[in-house]
Amino acid sequence: MSYKNFPMVPRVIFGRGSFNQLSEILAPKRLNINAPFIFLVDDVFKANSWLTSRIPLSYDDKIIYVSAAEEPKTSQVDSLVENIILNTKERPSGIIGIGGGTLLDLAKAVAIMLTNEGEAKDYQGWDLVKNEAVYHVGIPTISGTGAEVSRTTVLTGPDRKLGINSDYTPFDQVILDSELTKKVPTEQWFYTGMDCYIHCIESLEGTYLNTFSQSYGEMALELCKEVFLDEEGLKQSDSEEKLMMASWHGGMSIVYSQVGIAHAMSYGLSYLLGTKHGIGNCIVFDQLEEFYPEGVKLFKQMKEKHGIELPKGICSELSEADLNKMIDIAFDLAPLWENALGKNWQKIMTRDKLKELYLKM
Ligand code: NAD
Ligand code: ZN
Repeated sequence: MSYKNFPMVPRVIFGRGSFNQLSEILAPKRLNINAPFIFLVDDVFKANSWLTSRIPLSYDDKIIYVSAAEEPKTSQVDSLVENIILNTKERPSGIIGIGGGTLLDLAKAVAIMLTNEGEAKDYQGWDLVKNEAVYHVGIPTISGTGAEVSRTTVLTGPDRKLGINSDYTPFDQVILDSELTKKVPTEQWFYTGMDCYIHCIESLEGTYLNTFSQSYGEMALELCKEVFLDEEGLKQSDSEEKLMMASWHGGMSIVYSQVGIAHAMSYGLSYLLGTKHGIGNCIVFDQLEEFYPEGVKLFKQMKEKHGIELPKGICSELSEADLNKMIDIAFDLAPLWENALGKNWQKIMTRDKLKELYLKM
């Protein structure tokens, strides 16, 4: 048996207001005055001087606002990289992503593509990145995806939605300041938070489970239950801190295991319909009682408690060809199915069965 040797985020700062320390964190990492820091910031903060006025800009440092309306694409990474190369005197000292999973993934991918030749799509897969990325920092402003700790950056390319999974992908530095999450709208809070909850269930119920993953998964699950079910008596700021740590632990749990059916199926929805990760996972997970009975029961309680209505009938208009494409995308993620259902997963989850599930959504 050969065990995988995974990298982790080497530096993390945690605490409300820790965002104010960004300047002192970055200063020693500046290569020279011609090598700027580039801040990729969710454009939801464009008019938010509370956050943007605290971004420390010196010399040629730049803020690039990016919309998170759509999930990141390989072509978007390529054009950001081109724009940065054309507009900087030297290779940047660092890339800082400020936002949710979308911005964090973009920051990781841009940092990688600044030092690796070709196009982002060439690196979708496992361990294809050759050169160390530019120094990169992740600052989440919404909690749940675990993108702040993960070894992947999920991108939609011309042929598939697949991560750049590599030892160079994880951030060099993460700043966990839960205050930055205080204005997240309730529905989005729920969808992204449920991404974390679903990571826990899929990891803990999976056949790949081991003590490393279990210990992180159980911790994250407990935090999710406190935040989404027992929040009475919990201060808003405590709830935000707990969800931020749940996201971190949930991400750590899947580093050494895998996600499962909800993720495989939600990749299909995302590729074909553009359904975003958090809500897509919720739409799928809602239909998976057969596979995760306890997890889905609790999910439905949380949904009800927070008055969340999921869209219905999203696959009902799809053609046979579209359904088949969606099934292909989902089945392409073999490790997720194997984790969920074991080595003989193909006997349990047939194309017909998968189609039937999609048509329920
Ligand atoms: P997101 O980044 O797509 O943002 C969702 C919405 O919330 C956007 O409208 C955004 O503008 C808004 N938002 C973010 N912070 C806010 C704030 N503080 N106040 C108000 N609005 C705010 O959401 P997400 O769910 O965090 O990320 C989804 C993405 O993460 C997907 O692209 C998915 O593929 C990716 N993902 C990556 C990993 C990984 O390990 N790399 C894991 C899971 C998901
Ligand atoms: Zn996820």
